[in-house]
Amino acid sequence: SKWVYSFGEGRAEGRAEMKNLLGGKGANLAEMSNLGLPVPPGFTITTEVCTWFYANGRSYPADLRAQVDAALAAVEAVVGMRFGDARNPLLVSVRSGARASMPGMMDTVLNLGLTDATVQGLADRSGDARFAYDSYRRFIQMYGNVVLGVEHHHFEEVLEEVKRERDYTFDTELKAEDWQAVIAGYKAVVDRTLGRPFPQDPVEQLWGAIGAVFGSWMNQRAITYRKLHDIPADWGTAVNVQAMVFGNMGDDCATGVAFTRNPSTGENRFYGEYLINAQGEDVVAGIRTPQHLTIAGKEANGSTLPSMEESMPEVFRQLDAVRLKLERHYRDMQDIEFTVQQSKLYMLQTRTGKRTAAAALKIAVDMAREGLIDERTAVLRIEPKSLDQLLHPTLDPKAKKQIIAKGPAGLAGAASGKVVFTAEEAERLSELGESVILCRVETSPEDIHGMHAARGILTTRGGMTSHAAVVARGMGRACVAGAGELRIDYKRGTMLVRGVEVKAGDILTIDGSTGEVMLGEVPTIQPELSGDFALLMGWADRFRRMKVRTNAETPLDARTARKFGAEGIGLSRTEHMFFDADRIVAVRGMILADTEAGRRAALARIEPMQRQDFVELFKIMTGLPVTIRLLDPPLHEFLPASEAEMEEVAASTGTDLQKVQQRAHQLHEANPMLGHRGCRLGISYPEIYEMQARAIFEAAVVVFQETGETVTPEIMIPLVGTRKELDILKAVIDRVATEVSQRSNRPLDYLVGTMIELPRAALRAAEIARTAEFFSFGTNDLTQTTFGISRDDAASFLPDYQRTGIFEQDPFVTLDTDGVGELVQIAAERGRGARPGIKLGICGEHGGDPSSIYFCEKVGLDYVSCSPYRVPIARLAAAQAAI
Ligand code: ADP
Ligand code: MG
Ligand code: MG
Repeated sequence: SKWVYSFGEGRAEGRAEMKNLLGGKGANLAEMSNLGLPVPPGFTITTEVCTWFYANGRSYPADLRAQVDAALAAVEAVVGMRFGDARNPLLVSVRSGARASMPGMMDTVLNLGLTDATVQGLADRSGDARFAYDSYRRFIQMYGNVVLGVEHHHFEEVLEEVKRERDYTFDTELKAEDWQAVIAGYKAVVDRTLGRPFPQDPVEQLWGAIGAVFGSWMNQRAITYRKLHDIPADWGTAVNVQAMVFGNMGDDCATGVAFTRNPSTGENRFYGEYLINAQGEDVVAGIRTPQHLTIAGKEANGSTLPSMEESMPEVFRQLDAVRLKLERHYRDMQDIEFTVQQSKLYMLQTRTGKRTAAAALKIAVDMAREGLIDERTAVLRIEPKSLDQLLHPTLDPKAKKQIIAKGPAGLAGAASGKVVFTAEEAERLSELGESVILCRVETSPEDIHGMHAARGILTTRGGMTSHAAVVARGMGRACVAGAGELRIDYKRGTMLVRGVEVKAGDILTIDGSTGEVMLGEVPTIQPELSGDFALLMGWADRFRRMKVRTNAETPLDARTARKFGAEGIGLSRTEHMFFDADRIVAVRGMILADTEAGRRAALARIEPMQRQDFVELFKIMTGLPVTIRLLDPPLHEFLPASEAEMEEVAASTGTDLQKVQQRAHQLHEANPMLGHRGCRLGISYPEIYEMQARAIFEAAVVVFQETGETVTPEIMIPLVGTRKELDILKAVIDRVATEVSQRSNRPLDYLVGTMIELPRAALRAAEIARTAEFFSFGTNDLTQTTFGISRDDAASFLPDYQRTGIFEQDPFVTLDTDGVGELVQIAAERGRGARPGIKLGICGEHGGDPSSIYFCEKVGLDYVSCSPYRVPIARLAAAQAAI
């Protein structure tokens, strides 16, 4: 079979669609070749070889070698150089490339093919011995480290020693002979640490690097990254072998990275950085301060170094043309890598660019306006969860800020937290519930887990395209990348800036959008849904079938949710209204009363307050449905805990303390989650539900009298397992409705329905639906009762379940569509069978989780209900599910 695919200037065997086989990098190198862009020739060894490699004890298919030889020969023919030729050597890079870009993989090895013999040829051919020896030592260092596993510091010590002997400060001072001394030292290091010499056979070097790329698929970094990003282990990586081009052969050479649009703001302007006379990763590594690509970029950042637009105008024009060509072709923002060798431009990579949520929005909306994509595609382009970034607080512009340092502006997000200096510490503290700011000189793939755990990331080196910035953008973390005045001292655990010392554990605030680093915690303000955001949500609404409601009981939540586009309330938890200071005493009096008369007296005190709650909610939600759930939690949640609270209840109800204590003791339950709660309370104490129903109906009457609006409350009975429970309680509600209606002389419109949150209710849905006028799936409890797992106690074993792969996701976050989902589906079908058109919704946490929302669409629910800040996420996810 075919294991190797060639690419090169003008044509390729692969295409962009072949990412599964060629990896992202390989597929796009092929695509750029087909587009006629200047891509150095090379070939891709497929991901199928990686799969074969692991299935066969880390060996290769028998016919691979011949295919690699042939592809290499084709490259030699194109460039007119030969691999291993001492006079005119072809050098290659060996680059990993999975389907999705993966920073955990093996680093690229450049300049492969250099040996003691070929380095002479490179020196002669280029007429630049210094360049040749510098390239060779870079190669030994990279290959020695990433392929042979020799630790970096061994090489660094050699270089430092040579510089010390010769009294140099900068690498640039080293001459050809000096690099030769370094090379001798590097080779000795390899000899000493591995007990064998650095390989002098280019073919051996090549297979060593290929093996290392495949081997790196299973290294710890890669495994961690895959876990964090849900990338399956069986995808495998491809290997790209590509003819080298040199950005470090003099001042007419350069290397750089760019985005076709600004990845932080989304602005439609070329955005990137480059370095003159530099190779490969020098830009990203932050070793030298990169220069801006465009004059505008340079000016916006107050840089004094010349932009590429000024220093290499002709090449810049070519690059700008490539930018437009790529965008028109891919119809999305691209992240590109390029090198200029002696004023000739080469493209080394393109991929869909990572971007902040704000940029994603702007780019999608702009591209739709520009006609590059349609509105449907624009809606599909935004990851619903990423909206979270836009719905989260930004720094209050009026707040006082004590700015101690500044990095480049233009990354999203602000965050405060405790200063930590290592990824491990970031992880440890965040597990304890602390928010932390991870402070590093620069970050590398080893830090990913700490970056994930941190609220914000601060580096002293780097820039907008540095590792820290790229990863933070992808994860939605606040980031300041390259606050150059800060000096981190890892040993002492401190950071110094102009006389101010920041210690580990101190609180710091960072603002990615301005690049500011501030002492202490700076207050934040809530976001608004406006501009492009509102426009895109409008487009999404056109594709959406399900309604989106909110879970809210306070006027503030209800208002916020409406602002975000909620189309009603799907769950109003009346018990949340019971905890307010002015009523908790009355609520406790009600619970602790041991007679119906005593309960009624206490309920009479609560009723006007409860009525007022509903009046407010109905007014905020005028014209929209409001679902109110009657009292649900176990009574013991309201019990007085302290002596003082007991005394307070005793005094207010005129009982003696001892009786209060006794009753509290009686109400104690062994397993409250499965105890006297939900509709069971209504069965034992109908007067509670009676009061709540009366408050709801009277509120509806009040709202009509005051505003002329008719309210149609949806009254929801929790924790129903049998139809009989519902029948009894519906009769109570209907009786109260008749009374209120007669007394106020108003017809009342209302529905009585039930939560489906017990497996029995789901199974008996046909019967229950004969009484229930709507179902709302309470998937929090349904998950608890289906699995038999108490959510409050799951924290002790859930991590083990995720680690061992029993649970891929936390079932309390993402609906278990196989099990819990099957019950939902059964209940929906049986409910509809008994009562065609029965209204169906979901009100558990899952109502705001995009993949759960997809499931709800599939089952055909009428609406999802979620917390106010998730409403936009749910609107978008519901739209995408319907497309
Ligand atoms: P990553 O996936 O980490 O971006 P790459 O394989 O893209 O790794 O390589 C990193 C950098 O190495 C590239 O940006 C490019 O500058 C340089 N590089 C890779 N291949 C070549 C090549 N054939 N010639 C010159 N530079 C190269
Ligand atoms: Mg790259
Ligand atoms: Mg429940």
